[in-house]
Amino acid sequence: MSDVVYLNGEFLPLDQARVSVLDRGFIFGDGVYEVIPVYSRHAFRLAEHLKRLQRSLDAIRLANPMTDAEWVQLIEEVIARNPGEDQSVYLQVTRGAASRDHAFPKGARPTVFMMSGPLVTPGREAVENGVAAVSAIDNRWLRCDVKSVSLLPNCLLRQGAIEAGAEEAVLFRGGYLTEGSACNIFVVRNGTLLAPPKDHLVLAGITYDVVLELAARKNVPVEVREIPEAEARGADELWLTSSAKEVLAITRLDGKPVGNGKPGAVFKIVHQAFQEFKRDVMRRAA
Ligand code: PMP
Repeated sequence: MSDVVYLNGEFLPLDQARVSVLDRGFIFGDGVYEVIPVYSRHAFRLAEHLKRLQRSLDAIRLANPMTDAEWVQLIEEVIARNPGEDQSVYLQVTRGAASRDHAFPKGARPTVFMMSGPLVTPGREAVENGVAAVSAIDNRWLRCDVKSVSLLPNCLLRQGAIEAGAEEAVLFRGGYLTEGSACNIFVVRNGTLLAPPKDHLVLAGITYDVVLELAARKNVPVEVREIPEAEARGADELWLTSSAKEVLAITRLDGKPVGNGKPGAVFKIVHQAFQEFKRDVMRRAA
């Protein structure tokens, strides 16, 4: 994974990084995280990732241990100290180490950890043919807008999908589409792109925003609204989006083809726009 990681003020090799077994991230999953894609050593949409980090920290009532300027400097340093032009920076902040008690500890120092590995985006086969997904009931908590390190339900949902021979789980709660176990989900019906609203039931994906911006730029009609399960199941196209997967077509749901079973026309427009947009961002950064 990472050659050099950052932990509580120090840069050190990954295999030398240690946290206390009493860290509340380990004991309670009491922490939040971000994953930031890096293209040509340039952190993509960094300001937006830092804004979302702040919202997650506010939601769990943990003071941000650093200013945005300090985060930017640190993230740039982690990128510089790691090999590869395209990277995936992972950062996490937990409430720190303290004797085990559910209530917040007084005076604990947050644990700040950051690592960076290669950014692995989908290969040509996945882009050209799409991937399979299975549906599942969204049994997570009611604050899915918080990017919490407590990911046990997401892990179970994703593992269920893998064991069913699929890439992802498409989640429904109370008869409505929410998102995937580690991605946002979009629906296309009759040429219109449908997106579930960014409320407390989904993570406000950075890629989600990029996709809506690109759809608008390409004159694709967009509706942000609740999507009944039947509408998602009868979609012409289904997509998943995330920082690592970018935008990818789901071409099979529960073993049945989505639309004609191939990535659709609207997907192709937005996928191409995404690749062009990335190239532009990199060119501007160079
Ligand atoms: N929803 C969930 C549950 C996720 O884990 C992710 C990826 N971190 C996303 C949506 C997509 O977010 P982003 O586009 O910022 O990667």
